[in-house]
Amino acid sequence: MFESVLKIKPIPDETSYGLVMALGNLLGARSYGEALTAVFGDARGGLIDPLDCEPNRLAALLGKVSLEEPGELLLKHSLWPYFIAFHKVGIAGLIEIAASTVQARGVLGLNGSQLVAQAWRAKYCPVCAQDQLENHQRTTWIRAHQLPGVAVCFRHGNFLVNSSLPLGKAGDLRAEIEFPEVASISVASVRDSYLDSGVWSINNPHLLLAQVSHAVLGSNFRFSDQSKVRLLYGRALHRHGLISGKAIDWSGIELFLRDCYGELLAKQLGGEFKGVGFRKWLGGMIHGTQYPRQSFRHVLLLGALFDRLPSVKEVELAMPIAGCDNVAHHQRPIFCSEKNKDRNAIRSKIRALIQEKPDLRRTDLRKLLGWANYEWALKYDTEWLDLTVKLVPKCRRRDGSRAGADWGGRDMRVALIIQKLPLGQKARLRRGRSSINLSELARITNNSQDVLRRVIKQPATKAELQKLRLGWN
Ligand SMILES: [Zn+2]
Repeated sequence: MFESVLKIKPIPDETSYGLVMALGNLLGARSYGEALTAVFGDARGGLIDPLDCEPNRLAALLGKVSLEEPGELLLKHSLWPYFIAFHKVGIAGLIEIAASTVQARGVLGLNGSQLVAQAWRAKYCPVCAQDQLENHQRTTWIRAHQLPGVAVCFRHGNFLVNSSLPLGKAGDLRAEIEFPEVASISVASVRDSYLDSGVWSINNPHLLLAQVSHAVLGSNFRFSDQSKVRLLYGRALHRHGLISGKAIDWSGIELFLRDCYGELLAKQLGGEFKGVGFRKWLGGMIHGTQYPRQSFRHVLLLGALFDRLPSVKEVELAMPIAGCDNVAHHQRPIFCSEKNKDRNAIRSKIRALIQEKPDLRRTDLRKLLGWANYEWALKYDTEWLDLTVKLVPKCRRRDGSRAGADWGGRDMRVALIIQKLPLGQKARLRRGRSSINLSELARITNNSQDVLRRVIKQPATKAELQKLRLGWN
């Protein structure tokens, strides 16, 4: 009767156990045990936790929520997209596995070390809770707040609050159902207090982890191809100078991660960014035979190497480093003949142009080579182009001096322009939840996209863009 009369509408990013509790509550349940019985029909052995939402178990939920199929429920309201992000298995495959076994986690090898610093209590962000109350008239648990190692809200940057709702088997089924509390604070006051205390910063390692983890949840299996992921890491490590020739600079990588996350974070996560154990799992991700499927480790490396989640295109186009086949050396690197043909053709064109006109300027190179070819070389043949471009004299500045580009000045100028934009224009710059429309920004700031790509890595512009992404101004 309940099913036909009322269907609960899930709040975006709501966890499946949040849904179970909300349904139980509507059906008159007052404890976790009663909620489980009300939804699943009989008493269960323990609390439903983010990892326990086996597809077959959640089928009972489907009739009571306004979702079409198990895939949608798993994709939007379980933590599975995070846990299988680095697997070959997609949601459809997961449903198949779950139908043939009672323990999909075990089959996928996701026990034990997967649960690095796993939350044993459900966490919430008071500002998000307030937001939910305004928009959905109830509060619930958000998936991205429950991910391993996540301590702050990916949206607001403040530390998450531990509730008394236990996750896993240890919970007391007789305990009263609890939903996230709503503190009487505003987004602005949280922002101000964190800005004042200095906790909030774009270099805050907790925030970086929270944002990359959240992005992995929505990554739609773009990392399912192990060889592509390894090429992506190899290339990024090479760009950071941490792999050269056949050598991996282990102590450099250790320092690099410590620099990014700090010792404190490593300890909080129950590990260290050094030693045999660290090198073993990191080595596995870069080249070894044992490729770790645990998302958390990949999140750590992705955050450090990219500051964000690489796009679908970046993963698809990940290419081997020329003359550096240590990456994925146990497998043949994937060479795409088309791209290589392009590469050779473009390289010889550039060489010919430089020979013809030794004082060739970079802007001339762009014109003579054609915009598309030049952009291609910039993007996919960066190392070679940088080496070759040294032969091309830098563009003269207007006052005739030959000094290098003034990146600090450009940074301040662009940051100021962004700061002073009217609200409507800022909104147009925001693309989706977290990305920025770069071509529009290039137009507004009167820069080429190449220049802009470098400017947005400078501190002032980076900070302004971060604020813009979060919708703070
Ligand atoms: Zn929040």
